[in-house]
Amino acid sequence: MNVGGSEYVSIVSSDGGHQIKERPLLVNPYYSTNISDPDVHHNHNDCPSGQQIPAANKAPGTNGYRLCKTCASM
Ligand SMILES: [Zn+2]
Repeated sequence: MNVGGSEYVSIVSSDGGHQIKERPLLVNPYYSTNISDPDVHHNHNDCPSGQQIPAANKAPGTNGYRLCKTCASM
């Protein structure tokens, strides 16, 4: 007797701790030392304005500047 055909489809779903976070990342405040840039500081990593600051012009802190409008609305 052969009751055959027992197929095992083993789906290993081992995605423990897989998380997608859409929240913007709060980072330490930074600002641009370029004098032609607006006098604002940023506190979001993915701020479009902040991302345009080249690393060479990026300085940590607020320098007493106001928070960038984009960062404030994020
Ligand atoms: Zn910003």
